[in-house]
Amino acid sequence: MEALKIYNSLTQKKELFKPITKGFVGMYVCGPTVYSNVHLGNVRTFMSFDMIYRYLLHIGYKVRYVRNITDAGHLTDDNSEDKISTKARLEKLEPMEIVQKYTVDFHKVLEKYNNLPPNIEPTATGHIVEQIETIQKIIDNGLAYVVNGSVYFDVLKYNEKENYGILSKRIIEDAIENTRTLDGQSDKKNPQDFALWKKAEPEHIQRWNSPWSVGFPGWHLECTVMSTKYLGENFDIHGGGMDLKFPHHECEIAQAKACNHTNPVNYWMHTNMLTLNGKKMSKSTGNNILPNEIYEGTSKLLSKAFSPSVTRFFMMQAHYSSMLDLSNEALLASEKGFNRLMDTLNILENLETSKTSSFNVHNWKQNCYDAMNDDFNTPILIAHLFDAVKNINLIKDKKETITKQDLELLSTTLKAFIYDVLGLENTMASSDNSDVLNGVVEMLIKIRNEAKANKDYALSDEIRDKLKEKGIQLKDSREGTTFTVIN
Ligand code: AMP
Ligand code: ZN
Repeated sequence: MEALKIYNSLTQKKELFKPITKGFVGMYVCGPTVYSNVHLGNVRTFMSFDMIYRYLLHIGYKVRYVRNITDAGHLTDDNSEDKISTKARLEKLEPMEIVQKYTVDFHKVLEKYNNLPPNIEPTATGHIVEQIETIQKIIDNGLAYVVNGSVYFDVLKYNEKENYGILSKRIIEDAIENTRTLDGQSDKKNPQDFALWKKAEPEHIQRWNSPWSVGFPGWHLECTVMSTKYLGENFDIHGGGMDLKFPHHECEIAQAKACNHTNPVNYWMHTNMLTLNGKKMSKSTGNNILPNEIYEGTSKLLSKAFSPSVTRFFMMQAHYSSMLDLSNEALLASEKGFNRLMDTLNILENLETSKTSSFNVHNWKQNCYDAMNDDFNTPILIAHLFDAVKNINLIKDKKETITKQDLELLSTTLKAFIYDVLGLENTMASSDNSDVLNGVVEMLIKIRNEAKANKDYALSDEIRDKLKEKGIQLKDSREGTTFTVIN
């Protein structure tokens, strides 16, 4: 197995990756709060961990990848409301209908962007019993207290022996100063204490029995409970977006230590944000693009549609820990690069071989692995892939040579990195056929217009609906009918 280095947010250093059990990796990634559609920023984070998962598998690890669904207990930033209950009221649906609706959307989007499913996808509502048990242990260990049916984690007490701030590098005094006194916080001994269990107000629909009150668990708790249950009290990798470092991940460490007396995670990994107009994409501010707006080409910010693979390629061109700004120009540039890469794969199939190689494939292959082993450096990997692109084109033009054996190695390595590790899909095949597709759809539009003229609305609707089933959306306007490929 290759020598992989990972940047550990806990130690703020790149470290040699040593799994707890040789050959096996336990990885936990915080999943979405399913109260609205995922935006492209969320997709970036999940795609970064998908690439990490894919590379770990590629270099031979057996990985247990756990990613949760937050379907209860996530309060708004000012702690005043529960995100899912609020949305349920707004949409006049049951909270579990909200959960179902947006979990389905989340899965659909991630599949569209070719993300592999995790091995276990546990939900907070499915682990209420375990969460109650964990709270009881923390109370028994003297690090949580009960007030008016709610249970709070005693941060100051914990901080006497441990370091609350070990991950976020925040000084506890700063945390106190920066925490405003808000509704419902008056029960707390100290403002930085956080809820493990909240007594439900009468209007709160998601509620469960507990020894303390009819209520619901705090958001931070579920990840501690579910990661411990499926990966053990100490496991290898825990990931999430940068914005989860504090308070969410800091609280996870505190809860786990308070409950199990062990450091829960060996390598903390944090991905950086996708920005739009230089500002973080976010659900709450509305500064975001939805994934379907990109591949359907319906966003006002974009001049055209971009396929999920082009968008994925665009994201892989940045390191997971760097900020990345989405723009029309950047996507157009990525599309050019992506098409060139895919063109080269086609050239590769018909390349002539020679008795000697002037392109050193072994060195090149090592460079690719070195890049990925250096904290999953996909931009450097992609630079090496383009080095191969340049050489393949030179071989095609008879300015370089390659042996049959080297060509085979080049082809399998290149494909493994493009398809298996980066998770790209060759959509060029369909663009090669785009003339045929255009012709066929135009013909169907013409038949539909004739049907309409003959008042045969059953036929015209059937054509529209059948095309939609196949992923082609017709749009009627005064100028005529146009179409977009949505799948
Ligand atoms: P949430 O559903 O809000 O908890 O977010 C799900 C995941 O997406 C978390 O890991 C967040 O850190 C991550 N995330 C949220 N906004 C962005 C963004 N603009 N860019 C990248 N990741 C993000
Ligand atoms: Zn979490």
